[in-house]
Amino acid sequence: MGTATLQVNLTALGNNHAALDARSSADTETAAVVKADGYGLGAPQIASELYTRGVKTFFVAAAEEGEAVKKVCTDSTVYVFSGYMREDAACYQSSELQPLLNSPEQLLQWKADMGSRSFGMQLDTGMNRLGFEADEFAAVAPDAVNSTLLTSHLACSDEPDNPMNGGQLKNFRQMTDSLVHDTHIARSLAATGGTLLGPDYHFDMVRPGIGMYGGLPYKDAQAVVTLKLPVIQSRWVKQGESVGYGAAWRADKDTRVATLAAGYADGIIRSLSAIACNAEVKNSDDNQSLYLYADGKPCPMIGRVSMDMITVDITALEVDPDAMELLNAEQTIDYVAARAATIGYEILTACGARYRRSYTR
Ligand SMILES: *Cc1c(COP(=O)(O)O)cnc(C)c1O
Repeated sequence: MGTATLQVNLTALGNNHAALDARSSADTETAAVVKADGYGLGAPQIASELYTRGVKTFFVAAAEEGEAVKKVCTDSTVYVFSGYMREDAACYQSSELQPLLNSPEQLLQWKADMGSRSFGMQLDTGMNRLGFEADEFAAVAPDAVNSTLLTSHLACSDEPDNPMNGGQLKNFRQMTDSLVHDTHIARSLAATGGTLLGPDYHFDMVRPGIGMYGGLPYKDAQAVVTLKLPVIQSRWVKQGESVGYGAAWRADKDTRVATLAAGYADGIIRSLSAIACNAEVKNSDDNQSLYLYADGKPCPMIGRVSMDMITVDITALEVDPDAMELLNAEQTIDYVAARAATIGYEILTACGARYRRSYTR
């Protein structure tokens, strides 16, 4: 009992990375994205497992995240997506991180503060979020020849037929082909989705995140997480009585109800309530429930998600369980995400810091 446990299967993580590596071209390096504390699963543990398995390059969102990775993967190269901000100067120096510089201003500041320290660059090929525009990049060619990696990011790689993919690929080539021809600077365009788009998108390095963690668009991924929530109390609710806030779920027959110790403050996002309440279910596209599993048996969540609690119909169980699973190989992050009109990435990264994490092999 006590707190909920987020179990991370490091073997499944390693298998997913190896499978994505096998899907990428033979001379393409398969790096790993461990931003947002390893998609909520613990960046040091995730990175050191992959490092042990031979991964040499990691990507994070912010410099402090890079520091944590570098501590456990001392000989790795760590790139920072957000590029260079002055307040992170000490962190970049002490941990020998490389920024992916995003603008002429970041490049100038990096050179002024860091001299000839290594850096990568991020180019905007159509997403309009981060990176040098084509004209800006052309203007800094004398500096770009000293970069270690040229990257860009695809906006629609989870949709193989989306014309954005080919358009961004073309822009990336146009911006970088001649420079790379002369310098052999490495290039990276693909995240998980791009890795699955095929060899045109692989270049020298692919950098998957979500696929390693068991999420779409990598359909063949093995489940990495099991989320186990303790049962605090169980009770009979009589026909006609209601459960939870708003009295939004009402029993149409006598029902055994378990109250579990995790809620929206723990990443079980509250919009999941809609499919768990008979008053609200009409608003959802389908009637599929969200389930909590006890010894492999699915029991539907009922009533609204509270801050620290959810309620579950356990009438079908012979004995009251001590704990139930919200995420496992049967009920994946993407299944839960679809019930909440979001994506697996959000379900994973929302898994609160409140959970005790355990790592298995
Ligand atoms: C998050 C991110 C990735 C990894 O994306 P996945 O879809 O999780 O594989 C790669 N590159 C950039 C720039 C990112 O922001």
